Amino acid sequence: MPDGLGPQHADSPADSSEIPDEQGPKDACGVFGVWAPGEDVAKLVYYGLYALQHRGQEAAGIATSDGTNVTVYKELGLVAQVFDESILNAMPGHVAIGHTRYSTTGGCTWENAQPSFRHAKGRGSIALGHNGNLTNTMELARLVDTRDAMGATTDSDVITSLLADRPDLSIEEAAAEVLPMLQGAFSLTFMDEHTLYAARDRHGVRPLVLGRLERGWVVASETAALDIVGAQMIREVEPGEFLAIDADGLRSRQWAQPEPKGCLFEYVYLARPDTQIAGRGVHATRVEVGRVLAREAPVEADLVIPVPESGGPAAIGYAEESGIPYGEGLVKNRYVGRTFIQPSQTIRQLGIRLKLNPVREVLRGKRLVVVDDSIVRGNTQRALVRMLREAGAAEVHVRISSPPVKEPCFYGIDFATRAELIAHGLDVEQIRESIGADSLAYVSLDGLIAATTIAKPNLCRACFDGVYPIPLPAEEQIGKHVLESIGVSVMAESDPTGQRLGSPGPSGDEEQLLPSVGAGDALRRP
Ligand code: SF4
Repeated sequence: MPDGLGPQHADSPADSSEIPDEQGPKDACGVFGVWAPGEDVAKLVYYGLYALQHRGQEAAGIATSDGTNVTVYKELGLVAQVFDESILNAMPGHVAIGHTRYSTTGGCTWENAQPSFRHAKGRGSIALGHNGNLTNTMELARLVDTRDAMGATTDSDVITSLLADRPDLSIEEAAAEVLPMLQGAFSLTFMDEHTLYAARDRHGVRPLVLGRLERGWVVASETAALDIVGAQMIREVEPGEFLAIDADGLRSRQWAQPEPKGCLFEYVYLARPDTQIAGRGVHATRVEVGRVLAREAPVEADLVIPVPESGGPAAIGYAEESGIPYGEGLVKNRYVGRTFIQPSQTIRQLGIRLKLNPVREVLRGKRLVVVDDSIVRGNTQRALVRMLREAGAAEVHVRISSPPVKEPCFYGIDFATRAELIAHGLDVEQIRESIGADSLAYVSLDGLIAATTIAKPNLCRACFDGVYPIPLPAEEQIGKHVLESIGVSVMAESDPTGQRLGSPGPSGDEEQLLPSVGAGDALRRP
């Protein structure tokens, strides 16, 4: 289980800091797009987003077009909280995109939810969803209109504005101009009234795959989202590739020479285990990492248990390789992190037990190997070790299926600040002492990379080794609140009538069904 359950300080006393109101590490987002005349595209996107919920749980949104109108509906919350049948039924069309958001640039506000939307100056409208993080956001923001303080503060909105603000060019021509201006990590799906577009940065940091439906095409962050809508995996969108899909078919253009630097942390934690990356299942990679870990860090023990759920495959691999039996010693309370009800003080004091509960009869008297995917701040593991001892464990040996996370990510994952990362200041023995384990070991970086079967130069592993493959600007020009910090908000277009924006909107009943549809709603909100 990823660390970060506690609040901001790794050193806080365990009993007051293990409040499971914060999850981490947090991914930047999930994106999904579909072009499929004759299909109920809004519902396809809904289910696609459902499969990508793990990539972003702050906000969800869908844009659809019926060839005349682009309709956007987005809201803070989980996919199932944001959408219901009546909303989806009021979003007709043949092309659609969707987005699940965790904020990595710009705060968690309705305005920053995606898809972002702009009128494209005489060429209809653009809706866009983005997974990743740009590194030259501040520079790009100066190129777009920033007058409207009600606007969004995300790198994604900057991209949408750049695409929309080229009246002499088609969207495809605008993309050919704009994509080379973007630095950093981006997997994009965007659309106008007729066409679905997709693009990936030249390093392919964040995943993006192409799938085929009987009557159309799908692009998605992960193959698991293709599976849920019955799409056949065709291939990954290549680093530096741009796709356009419409009635004229699928057009592909390589807008930049690929320089692959896929995110290593996708294998550790971010991607679903049933997703394929580079032709290999993430589950198989994680099991292999567990085997490597068992060879690199053996220990005498009675039972291997995973920290559910992300520690599961590596625990299986560790057990297989070591010959130590595998068992389920912790039960995850799956839905507790998905409520918006703030826990009362009494509940908060229960700390980690809100999320995990020990199975005492499995643990009592045992020397345990506890396999987890990563340690970020250390609060979770400290609480976990204490809980396992209270449940009767004789020894607790912690094994981590990633190397120590020492540096922050600037390409779309929000771990914590450098100062909050426990491995930034402490060595392994000091971390062991801090979390109270009998022993602690991490898999080596080379061991993890070998398990992925991807060549080391083709992976970003900056959070582990500090080697950032995409140049970073000065410290004050990067970070989640870079646009807020300079008082920049990307202009949200206003409608003289004060009504919903976008192409001409739904009329009558549809308008009532969609009380917060379109960018115009941003202007009406406080
Ligand atoms: S810094 Fe870490 S989390 Fe960020 S892209 Fe690189 S490997 Fe992935």
